[in-house]
Amino acid sequence: MRYIDKVNGTKYNHPVKMEKQRGRNMLSDNIGRSGSRLTFAGHDVTHLAEQYGTPLYLMDEERIRRNCRMYLQAFRSSFGGNSLPLYASKAASFKQIYRIMAQEGMGVDTVSSGEIFTALSAGFPPERIFFHGNSKTDADIRYGVASGIGCFVVDNTEELLALNREAGCQGKKQKVLLRITPGIDPHTYDAVNTGMVDSKFGVPVETGQAIEFVALALTMENLQLCGLHCHVGSQVFDEDVFERTVDLMVRFMAQVRDELGFTLEELNLGGGYGTRYQDSEPQVDIPARIAEVAKRLREQCAKYAFPLPRILMEPGRSIVADAGMTLYTVSSVKRIPGYKSYVAVDGGMTDNPRYALYGSRYTVYHAEKSGGKEAVFDLVGRCCESGDIIQPKVSLPEDTCRGDIIAVCTTGAYNYSMASNYNRLPRPPIVMLREDGAYLAVKRESLEDLCALDI
Ligand SMILES: *Cc1c(COP(=O)(O)O)cnc(C)c1O
Repeated sequence: MRYIDKVNGTKYNHPVKMEKQRGRNMLSDNIGRSGSRLTFAGHDVTHLAEQYGTPLYLMDEERIRRNCRMYLQAFRSSFGGNSLPLYASKAASFKQIYRIMAQEGMGVDTVSSGEIFTALSAGFPPERIFFHGNSKTDADIRYGVASGIGCFVVDNTEELLALNREAGCQGKKQKVLLRITPGIDPHTYDAVNTGMVDSKFGVPVETGQAIEFVALALTMENLQLCGLHCHVGSQVFDEDVFERTVDLMVRFMAQVRDELGFTLEELNLGGGYGTRYQDSEPQVDIPARIAEVAKRLREQCAKYAFPLPRILMEPGRSIVADAGMTLYTVSSVKRIPGYKSYVAVDGGMTDNPRYALYGSRYTVYHAEKSGGKEAVFDLVGRCCESGDIIQPKVSLPEDTCRGDIIAVCTTGAYNYSMASNYNRLPRPPIVMLREDGAYLAVKRESLEDLCALDI
């Protein structure tokens, strides 16, 4: 598929025409080897590292668009024309990503005034923005309502009351979804579980609080209650998590109709489909899963004689994760005989805190060497923290040395968006890759940028 979007003011370079080939045994089909040289989205990564410097975030634009289209088509065929996938932009938030989402016809999820501001600055239509978060401030609520945000996903009673007041002050009727905690364990890592009864997010069904929450929302004169939202977790691989969620949510929507006499029309099932970070992990067939969810939805709605709601979902990771790669330059290789060996690079937990945060797994490749003898190293960063590990026990050429380029795969989600300036390290730039060239979407922070706010 072709698309035309010349980004203003960006220069396109002319990449060496590479043979488009998927290297055998590579993690994803946008990663390859041309001889001994690693390629990403058809570009020679060593070349990109020379041109833009390291550490460097790469994003495969074609892959982002392909992932969006996969969701859009699956939604259309499984849930019908009024359904909408929303990109959960906390996974990677910068202006160009919102332009791509606008062009592809996606909605977006935001969780802060900062994300909303970024989306609006990029020209994203406010009516397709959803505003999440369990702790929205008065300023967030004021800004969201004033910006004409399509829908607030209200997390709790205090927010509901504050939002109703603010909408009244601004003379608006604000659309809302209510975040409900269905009480589901998706069997993922604790830090990314969000749908269980004792979660900090949403209002639980089990305790009877959810029905009271809906009843209260129906009395809010400045709010229009459209439906419910739930989100059970991230990195979900279990087959039937969304089906079980549908069971509970439709049952609860029927309860709302029976007890409160109100028919909710929208159901947002959240995000969370898993992405493959290592060969040992499964590949989720998302369109097939969505078809299963739709089947269950129709069954449950028939069971309760409930009209089919408009379905929304909020994929983040599965839109951008496999579109990302991070390049580093090796600064030192340390071998401690009888213990272990380290490869230290010019980035670390500042550009990718995910291993330090929750032990995330990654696949790591050397950019140039292949075929020779390999050894096991801990790939570590340059921060003053022993926990600054990008990935332990990675296999790299035995003779890896200072100056070599190392690629960490599948870094498109929750890397740039979680980056920090710890140790006063400037954040890396984001370079977008297309078939016809590469361009900067986010500039590298300079040393002056680091002091920009210091007085
Ligand atoms: C984080 C989050 C998502 C996106 O989750 P992914 O695992 O990245 O798909 C969607 N909805 C909500 C409410 C979230 O908090």
